[in-house]
Amino acid sequence: MQYVVYGITQNPETKQYIVVIPDEFSSRRSGLNGKCISCGQYNTSPAWCQSCDPWRTTQGWTSKNENIDNFIKELQFKATGYEKVIEWIPFNNLINLQEINKSEPGLVLATWDKGVREIKGESGKCIQSRTMSSVDLMELNYSTLELLEKFITVHMQKVYRIHGITQNTETGQYMLVIDFYNDKRKSVNGICGHCKRYNTNPVWCQICDPPKVDQKTSGDKNIDNCIREFQLKATSFENVVEWIPYNRLDNIKEINRGGFSIVYSSTWLDGKRTVKGDDSLGYVQHRKKSCEVALKTLSGSQTNYEFLNEVS
Ligand SMILES: [Zn+2]
Ligand SMILES: [Zn+2]
Repeated sequence: MQYVVYGITQNPETKQYIVVIPDEFSSRRSGLNGKCISCGQYNTSPAWCQSCDPWRTTQGWTSKNENIDNFIKELQFKATGYEKVIEWIPFNNLINLQEINKSEPGLVLATWDKGVREIKGESGKCIQSRTMSSVDLMELNYSTLELLEKFITVHMQKVYRIHGITQNTETGQYMLVIDFYNDKRKSVNGICGHCKRYNTNPVWCQICDPPKVDQKTSGDKNIDNCIREFQLKATSFENVVEWIPYNRLDNIKEINRGGFSIVYSSTWLDGKRTVKGDDSLGYVQHRKKSCEVALKTLSGSQTNYEFLNEVS
């Protein structure tokens, strides 16, 4: 590649010589992104100037660990947009910590008081902004090296939105500050009443809703635990598996007898779970009361829970 130089100048105060070269980001500058307050040129992405903003994000903070500081700063210098910046997040900016869904080991829900980076305003006049928001903390280990390795893996997967890294000041444990289901959260699904983020499915937040499923006991601890495990992984309201008391099933009639099982028809009084509504009206959770279902006896031993394999 040819290296273009326009000329040489000298700072009269510091006496330092400076090379004048073309603006390497000129092809990305557009009036739709607004103007940079530092250099006065059009921004390279909404409310973000690739020449001036990355450097600014590297200033005024420290994790008190040189390796982590350098690692984050290197990422910040490469950030191509305001919302893509990864930062060091002091632990005291994270409040209301709750271990909410145990199906995701080491995931803790928290509120980030400084807030998630957002671009606000119409094109041409957009500004950098922060909104206090729920975030998921992924608990990692205590070693810097392992933290950075794990970070690189998660970053390459591009599944979660990564906001930054924090360290529990009491235990010394490092955590990634992320939005675990960022790729699934959509405004048409409505807002989660608990974490106030967009739901991952219509009226269903996969972090907050599974632990709230109303639990009926089967009277057997192993079966209860197994059903609980299914519930915690449920990806939508309709996918929830539950214990159904036999007296909630009416009109049971045998309809088919095969080699390994018998099939019955029946009316389920509580009814199957459905979601009513559409993208413009919004959605509500609903139960289709007294709906027709089939019952099938499970093969496998009834004493060693082999039959649960058929459900999973
Ligand atoms: Zn600039
Ligand atoms: Zn939620």
